[in-house]
Amino acid sequence: MQTKIVSEGACKVHVYEGKITKKDPVFFNPEMKFNRDISVACLKVAREMSSETWVICDLLSGCGIRGIRYLLEVPDVESAVLNDANPTAFEIIKKNVGFNKEKSAIVENLEGNVLLSMHNNKFNFIDIDPFGSPAMFLDGAGRAVRHGGFLGVTATDLGPLAGTYPKTCLRRYGAKSLKTDVMHETGVRILTGHITRVLSKYDKGFLPLLCFCSRHYYRIFGEVKKSRSCADKAVAALGYMLYCHKCGRRKYSKFNKEICECGVEFDYAGPLYTGNLFDVDFVQRLEPMDSKMEKFVDVLREESKVDGMIYDVHEICSLNKLETVRRDCLVSCLREKDYRASGSVFGGHTVRTDAPLNVIVECVGKK
Ligand SMILES: [Zn+2]
Repeated sequence: MQTKIVSEGACKVHVYEGKITKKDPVFFNPEMKFNRDISVACLKVAREMSSETWVICDLLSGCGIRGIRYLLEVPDVESAVLNDANPTAFEIIKKNVGFNKEKSAIVENLEGNVLLSMHNNKFNFIDIDPFGSPAMFLDGAGRAVRHGGFLGVTATDLGPLAGTYPKTCLRRYGAKSLKTDVMHETGVRILTGHITRVLSKYDKGFLPLLCFCSRHYYRIFGEVKKSRSCADKAVAALGYMLYCHKCGRRKYSKFNKEICECGVEFDYAGPLYTGNLFDVDFVQRLEPMDSKMEKFVDVLREESKVDGMIYDVHEICSLNKLETVRRDCLVSCLREKDYRASGSVFGGHTVRTDAPLNVIVECVGKK
C-alpha cells in the first residue's frame, strides 16, 4: 500500500492512501480532524482537573494520529497506550511514533476488549473512536477507566441511533430511536444513556461534559466518578423523550405512554439521558484552535446555559403553516419574553429553549 505524509495539529504522520472502511480502518480519515481538534481541546481542560499521573488509551488507534496528537499537544500526559488489532495498523503506528520521536507511547496489537480487560481501573482517559458502533467496547472501558477519569466516545452508526434503523438501535443500545427534526440530538442522548447504564454496573457515574454531532458521527466527552451516589444520580436522569408528530410538542418523562395536549398520543424515544449534555464551566474553559472551532465553541457556551428542549425552526414553522424565520430572530423573541434560549450545535436551524411550544409558535408567528 502507498503511504503519504500528512500534517495535523503538532504531528506529522505516514498514512495509507485510500478510503477508510470497516475492513481497513488503518486508512486516515481527514473528516475526523475537527473531532480530533475538539478532543485535544477537551483533554487539555480535563488534564487540568486532575492531579494524578496520567496514562491514557487510544483504543482503536488506526494510524496513531489521535494518540500521538494527545501526547504532543496536551501537557503532562505521562504515557499513552496506542492500540490496534490490525497488524498493518500496528506497524504504521510504530513507524509514526518513531517519526514523531514520541518516547512515552506504548504501542499494542490487541483486540480492544482484551487490552481493556488487562487494565482494570488503569486509564485516566480512554478514547473509543471506532468505524461504526462503540457499543461493544463500552463495558471494557467502564472497567478500565479510573475514578476521576474521562471517556471520549465516537459513534458513526447514525442510522440506528437517529431512527432510520430502530430495531438495530434497540438491539445495540437497548433503546428505541426516533426519526424527528431533532433525531441527532436524540441519538446522542440514547448513546449517553447507554454509557450511563453500562458504567453504573461498576458503581461508576458518567457525567457528560460536551456532546455534539457532525454529518457522519456523534462525539461524547464525559467524566467518570467511581461513586454509588454519582452512579445513582446519573441513572436518575434516564427517561424518555415524548414527541407529538402532529403539533411538534416534545418533553421528557419517566413514562413512554402519554397523550399530547392536542389530543394525539405521543410517540417516544428512549430510554435516554435527559440531563444537560454540556457542563457550563467545562465548555467555558475550552480554548479554540481555529476560527471553525471558535464559532462552534461560541454556540456551545450559550447552549450550555440553557436547560431545555431542542427544536428545528423549519419544522415548527412547517407544522404550524407559518413562514420560516431566522433562528437568531426566534432566540431574541424568546429571550424578550424572559425564557432561556440559544442556538444549538446540533444544527444551524436548531434552537434550545425552556419556553413551551405555544410561546415558540407565538414568536415564529410574530415575525
Ligand atoms: Zn400534539
